[in-house]
Amino acid sequence: MKRRSAYRDRPRDMERIAWIWTLPCAARTLGQCYGRACAPHAGRRPVGRKAPDDTCIPMCSRHHAQRGSFKGPFRLWDQQRMRHWLATMVEHYQKLYEEHLRPEENGDQR
Ligand SMILES: [Zn+2]
Repeated sequence: MKRRSAYRDRPRDMERIAWIWTLPCAARTLGQCYGRACAPHAGRRPVGRKAPDDTCIPMCSRHHAQRGSFKGPFRLWDQQRMRHWLATMVEHYQKLYEEHLRPEENGDQR
């Protein structure tokens, strides 16, 4: 049995997660994509806990499952490649989110 209370009670960045849900799957270019993304955690997690919400990346349920079991497009990947890919994605979406929070800084300055 899993204890769920600690997971549920921790602070969540719901705005960020809601934004992640609007994005296409991060692994869509790898093929076999379901399209609709959820927001799994991609960061290193502290022992026994989920990773912080700022490491969420959009992934469809299929790629999320395949990522965990190294199947489908991930079947030839090793841990190192997976970690590198996830770290790249986390960084990419963190940057994208920062831009999303400050849209007025994009151009239009005199
Ligand atoms: Zn996908």
